[in-house]
Amino acid sequence: MSAALDYEVIIVGGGLVGASLACALATADVRAAVIEAFPPEVDAQPSFDERQIALAPATRRIFEALGLWPAIAVEATPIREIHVSEQGGFGITRMSAVEEGLDALGHILPSRRIGATLFERLRARPEITLYCPAKAQDVTVDATAATVRIESEQGMRSLRAPLLAVCDGARSSIRERLGIRLRERSYQQVAVIANVTPERNPEGRAYERFLAGGPLGVLPAAGGGCAVIWTVPAAAAEAVLKLDESEFLARLQAAFGYRLGRFLAAGKRSAYPLAVLVAERCAAQRALVIGNAAHTLHPVAGQGFNLALRDVAVLAELVTDTLEAGGDPGEPRLLERYQRLRRVDYQRTLAFTDGIVRLFSNRLPGLTLARNLGLLLLDLFPGSRQVLMRQAMGRSGWLPRLARGLPLNRTGRRTRG
Ligand SMILES: Cc1cc2nc3c(=O)[nH]c(=O)nc-3n(C[C@H](O)[C@H](O)[C@H](O)COP(=O)(O)OP(=O)(O)OC[C@H]3O[C@@H](n4cnc5c(N)ncnc54)[C@H](O)[C@@H]3O)c2cc1C
Repeated sequence: MSAALDYEVIIVGGGLVGASLACALATADVRAAVIEAFPPEVDAQPSFDERQIALAPATRRIFEALGLWPAIAVEATPIREIHVSEQGGFGITRMSAVEEGLDALGHILPSRRIGATLFERLRARPEITLYCPAKAQDVTVDATAATVRIESEQGMRSLRAPLLAVCDGARSSIRERLGIRLRERSYQQVAVIANVTPERNPEGRAYERFLAGGPLGVLPAAGGGCAVIWTVPAAAAEAVLKLDESEFLARLQAAFGYRLGRFLAAGKRSAYPLAVLVAERCAAQRALVIGNAAHTLHPVAGQGFNLALRDVAVLAELVTDTLEAGGDPGEPRLLERYQRLRRVDYQRTLAFTDGIVRLFSNRLPGLTLARNLGLLLLDLFPGSRQVLMRQAMGRSGWLPRLARGLPLNRTGRRTRG
């Protein structure tokens, strides 16, 4: 079936999600093409920047199963404890790795490091053809294949494969070409991120603090520093970005308090407008939309990439099993199965993230008390806290092989060299 086609899978977008998918497929010798507009080394690359990302234990397990974790872990800081509180409130809840029986609740590291590791693997694997820099301009689909027209310095060319994975981010042009509509709601908030040096080493403690304007995350980072992700109302963002360093640190100190002593220095600030975007469906004929192209979440709970990597693990498993059985990876049965397997995780993660943002953004007087009681109750009743933790750590529901730390290639369709 695929003999006349160029590849078994075409991946549009080689950001965090597309590059991870290609690396996963390569472990099972699936022939894939990756089309990415920007190499990881250039500043314009939107997926791999200085933004610090929290990786859940399930994500770590997937990277371990792919043999990528040792290189990623070089810059990873473990989270041993999380403190959640609300400014002006009495409630506080703590979650600890020890209580969960884990060595870490997650790891923090710059997305740039993940990008460098993924691209090193992509460039080394013979199963992967990397078109970068190259832009996917258009897609057409017929009964046997998806055809993607790409533009690069070498000119225009067309690639064909039985399955197209659309990983070109929140503003996906290919999703639009496939006729998949988007539901979108702006939070009217902007995430301001910066690396900050505190007086005291956070020693693996992450803080999530809910303020009147939005949540503030202060996460442990390499060398005793902190990665700050501060959600502010959209109208205030410009002013926060323009503050000089000492004014910014003073504002941050007032919002966070002195749990880590004084904040001594802040690095470059960047801003990300926040919205929730959900594709009305993630399948079209011979195509699946994954990652930010399918669901873009508020970063408050650090779930976006973690959720998307579970997309990757499920899709890679279905494609591998189908090819091992001599089947067609773009067949409707596989696309339906993928959607069915991902539905519950999407719904829960979306409800969890959106619920936190809405609950803590609401200034109704009775709600402040309710929120603080909620935090206190979570602290007093570990059972309910653990349900929340399992969801946040990607440990609830059906888990694909990679998320259980198992290799993708079950029967060895072809043996790797
Ligand atoms: C401030 C902030 C903090 C976050 N923190 C966390 C966290 O702690 N934990 C977590 O799990 N998630 C976090 N996220 C979410 C995470 O960043 C996203 O889930 C992730 O970037 C999604 O990756 P993606 O590959 O789907 O999309 P993108 O990162 O948008 O990548 C899309 C890629 O497609 C390429 N592209 C686009 N169009 C084309 C085309 N036509 N042709 C070729 N290439 C194309 C782009 O160049 C890009 O490389 C955070 C997000 C933000 C904004």
